[in-house]
Amino acid sequence: MNGTGDVCGSVEPMSDTWGRLKARLEELRDLGSAQKLFEWDQAVLLPEKGGRGRAKAAATLEGISHDRLTDPEIGALLDELEADDSLPDDQKAHVRVTRREYDRATKVPADLVREIAELQGISYQTWTEARPKNDFKMMQPFLERLVELKKREADAIGWEGERYDALIDVFEPDMTTAEVEKMFADLVTGLTPLANSILDAAGDKPEWLNAPYPEDKQMAFSHWLCEQIGFDTKGGRLDQSPHPFTIQIGVGDVRQTTRTEPNTVMDSIFSTLHETGHALYEQGIPEELNGLPAGSVASLGLHESQSRMWENQVGRSRPFTEFMLPHLKELFPENLGSIPFEEFHRGANYPQRSLIRVYADEVTYNLHVALRFELELAMFRGDLAVADLPGAWNDQMDSFLGMKPSTDSDGVLQDMHWSIGALGYFPTYTLGTLYSAAFFDKANTEFGGLEEDLRKGDGSRLLIWLNDNVFRHAYLREPKSIAEDIIGGPITAGPFIEYLRTKYSAIYETQF
Ligand code: ZN
Repeated sequence: MNGTGDVCGSVEPMSDTWGRLKARLEELRDLGSAQKLFEWDQAVLLPEKGGRGRAKAAATLEGISHDRLTDPEIGALLDELEADDSLPDDQKAHVRVTRREYDRATKVPADLVREIAELQGISYQTWTEARPKNDFKMMQPFLERLVELKKREADAIGWEGERYDALIDVFEPDMTTAEVEKMFADLVTGLTPLANSILDAAGDKPEWLNAPYPEDKQMAFSHWLCEQIGFDTKGGRLDQSPHPFTIQIGVGDVRQTTRTEPNTVMDSIFSTLHETGHALYEQGIPEELNGLPAGSVASLGLHESQSRMWENQVGRSRPFTEFMLPHLKELFPENLGSIPFEEFHRGANYPQRSLIRVYADEVTYNLHVALRFELELAMFRGDLAVADLPGAWNDQMDSFLGMKPSTDSDGVLQDMHWSIGALGYFPTYTLGTLYSAAFFDKANTEFGGLEEDLRKGDGSRLLIWLNDNVFRHAYLREPKSIAEDIIGGPITAGPFIEYLRTKYSAIYETQF
């Protein structure tokens, strides 16, 4: 889309009303593009002293975007277009998504928006001080107030089943609390005993996992690896940042970052595969939709399904680790030169009990997420007082993984999410994991020889399949229906549990 209207073969008559809305949407897109470039720049390049000036510039842009989006003229155009049955499907989808954004931006009173934004800033700042001091009491009043304000926000937006639905809906449109609660209940029942048996079988950590790996070579490998599986460097970049992320700045410009640690190579390999999964989805959005509201990824859960699939189902598989090892031996002969394949594969999948979510492995990660979901839902429903959060956290950790944090810094204070009021966000991590296992299963049965492809480091046929089943739909449809079409019904924990059971039974040569 180049802003001048119809440029491709199928020329649709463009109604005046649609043309007027489209011009406004393109302006919002361009403002958003500048905001995202600021965000990327701040994480990758911005010198320390530039932070304050940039925050002000970003706030100015945010204010302009918000004013443009909430202009009553947009509401009037939407009313008119929603009454027009003759609208082509893609325009209907853009109208549907714009309505969603417009309603969210206009229904919440301006003073509540301001109060939440101010509180988030102070609360986040307090969290950065409370965690090193191990002082939950510092955070408590902020969390209590944030929960209150998020309740008011949910009521302003509206909900049908229960309040928490409005929070989930921000990140996972069309998904309800009841569905997510059932998903986690099934997951926890199946995963807790399996994870603990796998952890008990894991044995000592191989020494070569934590040895010095030159970081420039890690970056060289990351650049090579992301291109190998299909990342288009003419339409994107890979850089470094402490917290890896992927962001689409505009059409033909998808930026991803990875990180390196001096004493392990696994972190950079799997961060790169993870972010490349996100980036391939962004690069796969059809160009003719790109930049308009429905020309985007459909939800965070679907986004995460792509990153987890390339990181885990592909990256940690036997055939793909077999493909990577000779290249890694060449780069790091002193650490990996004499490591046999079986040992490398086991190392790439080494599970261990950890108190900290961001260091958790594929086996335990989703128990960390389940814990957060259960606690935040209880807190939001009023079944758990904020003051009782640290104790509830420690008890749940004990019941899932048999370990209790000795400090709140390693417990309830470890993530920044709650400090900024990001409630409803955690479930998308697990939804993505469950989708990734179910999708990969489906791809495997729908076309033969995937294992052979991966042994050659060739993801091209998998990418074509993902394009047909996920990417080309962009956000033309609700994410749940895109996923259910692939799976053949609602998402369950079954395929993920079976995937872990099969993989680890082979690795430790025992039947879990
Ligand atoms: Zn991710």
